[in-house]
Amino acid sequence: MATYDLAPVDVPKVETKFRTIKTKLPVPESLPIFEKLKRSEPRSMWGQPPVVWHKAEGFIVSDRWGNRWIDWSSGVLISNVGHGRREIEDALRAILDRGLLATYVFVHEKRAELTEMLTGLSPDLENYRTFLLTTGSEACENCIKLAKTYGLEKHGPHKKYLVSFNNAFHGRTMGSQLAGGMEKSKTWIVDRDPSFVQVPFPDGYKNEDQSFDLFLRTLDEKGVAPQDVAGVMSESYQGIGPDFFPVEYAQRLEAFCREHDAVLIMDEVQSAFGRTGKMFCFEHYGIRPDLIACGKGITSSLPLSAVIGRRDIMNLYAPGSMTSTHSASPLPVVSAVANLKVLLGEGIVEHAAAMGEILVPELARIQRKHPEALGCVQGKGLVAGIQVVKRGTKEPDAETAVKINVACFQKGLLMFAPVGIGGECVKIAPPLVISEEALRESIAVLEQAVYEVLD
Ligand code: PMP
Repeated sequence: MATYDLAPVDVPKVETKFRTIKTKLPVPESLPIFEKLKRSEPRSMWGQPPVVWHKAEGFIVSDRWGNRWIDWSSGVLISNVGHGRREIEDALRAILDRGLLATYVFVHEKRAELTEMLTGLSPDLENYRTFLLTTGSEACENCIKLAKTYGLEKHGPHKKYLVSFNNAFHGRTMGSQLAGGMEKSKTWIVDRDPSFVQVPFPDGYKNEDQSFDLFLRTLDEKGVAPQDVAGVMSESYQGIGPDFFPVEYAQRLEAFCREHDAVLIMDEVQSAFGRTGKMFCFEHYGIRPDLIACGKGITSSLPLSAVIGRRDIMNLYAPGSMTSTHSASPLPVVSAVANLKVLLGEGIVEHAAAMGEILVPELARIQRKHPEALGCVQGKGLVAGIQVVKRGTKEPDAETAVKINVACFQKGLLMFAPVGIGGECVKIAPPLVISEEALRESIAVLEQAVYEVLD
């Protein structure tokens, strides 16, 4: 896998309204920090461009040495309402002043406010419930457990299959990886639970067959009878791409779940809270999931996740038997409440949709200039991706993807490391509050970087 070089290099100086690059990169003075990490962390944590975050405001990230980047990462699609929002900071200060740092499952007032707000965002306020957790993986694990429990209790042990998609990412814990569709990352499990089954995702590029018949055929080939499916789980868009469902496919998937009383789970950990220009990405498909896994942009800051789901499924477990030590922890909860108020109050979801109308066609224009190396561009709202391929093929080209990423980094445009099966996807995900001026400036930076790397 291509990695980032820690040897400082001279790069051209940059000074604009939004970006400043005034030192070598990486900054020589930052190297002791990287050395310390190398001595104390597993190497799995080393994968990002070598910048030491010091301050983050809105869509700009700064280091301690005077450099500033336009952020196209939002962390990893966390900071939807922008970094360092005053409203979130104020909410945190207020609760800090009361010393309310942990409560376990004892009630605090803000927990009720948040669960009511999130349930209110669900397809049906009366018939949905919200369970708060900490990480996206945990939310996905909980969805898997609830779907399997529902199948078992309502229909019996034959209804046990959890169907998910090739290339899916649902987290790094065991259940979320069993449901995940990245073969290479789950070899460690060795003996797989055969009740987890994957089918091809209808992305239209890696898999050109976008028909729902392929879903049915694959289940049949794998010996899974539709009536034995407890749940079907998918990201609303697959992160690497990002790849969306064709609307008709998503609707047929929902109809399949209804016909066979299978729980329809949409993993919205990455895609919710305005990222695609709608509150939830599944709204693009006109479907109604039974369980929705949320995380990341739910707070734009602190770790918190949630499962929002159908009441009869959410209530399967008795009091005290579906909890977690840090669920509804006060600090993340107040940050979520403040975050959602900002998101809803400032028209940020609509802004993301409008910015996507600029971003996605512009990326397509850049792709058309380099069709041999930029295989495919996808996007909606303020999430997009460019698949970098070996010239004239669909074979992932991680090395070139990293070069584009580094060239952007050196010009004051920050993205997290390319992702994907081969690390080939240049992923674009600015905070949803990015201004049109900054968006256009950053697109020009990407265009220049692509030109320098590819021409
Ligand atoms: N599902 C999706 C779609 C994700 O993008 C992620 C994180 N990238 C997860 C689940 C796992 O979330 P976490 O890292 O918070 O466990």
